[in-house]
Amino acid sequence: MVLVLFTVELLTVGLVAGGLAALPADRSTGLALLGAIGLVALGVVHTELATGIERVRRRVAHASYFDLSSVWTFAGALLFPPGVAGLVVIGVYSHLWWRVWRPAGAGFYRHVYTTSTVVLAAIAASTVVAPDGLATVAGAGGPGSMLPAVGLLLLAMAVYVVVNQVLVALALALTTGRRFALRGVLGEWDDHILEGATLCLGVLAALAALRQPLLILLVLPPLLVLHRAVLIRQLEERANTDAKTGLLTAAAWRGQAHRGLARGRRHRDAVAVLILDLDHFKSVNDCYGHLAGDEVLTAVARTLTAQVREVDPVGRFGGEEFVVLLAGLPHGQEGRTLAHAAAERIRRAVRGLAVRVDQPGGPLTIADLSVSVGVAITGQDGESLEELMQVADYALYAAKRAGRNRVRLGRSEGEPGSEA
Ligand code: GH3
Ligand code: MG
Ligand code: MG
Repeated sequence: MVLVLFTVELLTVGLVAGGLAALPADRSTGLALLGAIGLVALGVVHTELATGIERVRRRVAHASYFDLSSVWTFAGALLFPPGVAGLVVIGVYSHLWWRVWRPAGAGFYRHVYTTSTVVLAAIAASTVVAPDGLATVAGAGGPGSMLPAVGLLLLAMAVYVVVNQVLVALALALTTGRRFALRGVLGEWDDHILEGATLCLGVLAALAALRQPLLILLVLPPLLVLHRAVLIRQLEERANTDAKTGLLTAAAWRGQAHRGLARGRRHRDAVAVLILDLDHFKSVNDCYGHLAGDEVLTAVARTLTAQVREVDPVGRFGGEEFVVLLAGLPHGQEGRTLAHAAAERIRRAVRGLAVRVDQPGGPLTIADLSVSVGVAITGQDGESLEELMQVADYALYAAKRAGRNRVRLGRSEGEPGSEA
């Protein structure tokens, strides 16, 4: 890992130094350096205006490798030769470190690596449009010269994004020990839209710089609005997530469950609702304390998520109660059997849980946990979410009355439940 990170950083320094050394000692180099200083200054103004928003954003985001500062770094890549484009990145990211990342407690070496990935991305994009691709775009007349020029710009964008993403995914794979997965490289849709919008602003900034430098200032207001848009999206995600368990909140789960039911109706699939309640959870709190109880809740939440498909929403209904929606089931007895099997699988997994918690007297393991599950399925138990929840809740109480640590289906007491 150290070797790869070090190689990337060394390559960065080498390419920037080499690029700068290769510049001719003439007026064009002087102009490029002056322009680079201007871009870095704009980056500084941008960061200063956005620091409040940015700090909140980084606090709520799990992982975000996108930075709206690519407006300036990408503009630099389009405007300047590779060495100078690298300098713009270093300038903007030094200030970002000082104002945003360092106060947020981020690791210095990680930031150095991030900076390297952006420098390499900028150098690659700059090489794509070199020697004066952007000037060609700006000066393009008829459609004949316009299309190739726009194509070149799009290619530069793609190269910038791909180089950066691959290097970031590589570092993630190395540091977390996870497989280098294409999914990790591809990232989230929303992030791409954001990055695309930022790069578009970068193109406009670069074109403005060529024609009428003062007009670059017009990029700042939409950029700040973009910051707020990201923040709203991430706050929304935070609001839908239960802080203790990482599951959906009850309200967010309801929303997803309604959508799941509607989809089921469209596809003529059956849908099942599971309500789960941990057995004698109060005694866990009483024996080990509420903090240990919280760790158990988190472990149960992880187990639930692991036992169902990614498309099946799992929520924290309240306290030590959870809800799951199973979508895409067949109708009739077959669907019923599948829903029962899923609930049984969850029950067994919780039964097998051993949660390690740190206590003042040393670490200990909490086992012997169990959960009671009530299940309701469309077709037999009702069609609306309210009906299903009511039936599942009734079944849950039947499971509790029957002795806990078991699964009950539907309305009737005599259902084939699991006797543990
Ligand atoms: P039963 O088998 O009948 O469900 O017994 P129970 O003890 O689980 O049921 P009860 O509803 O009486 O108690 C639930 C307990 O869950 C009470 C409360 O202290 C605990 N609890 C609820 N939310 C949390 C939480 O967020 N953290 C912790 N540690 N405990 C919680
Ligand atoms: Mg309860
Ligand atoms: Mg309980």
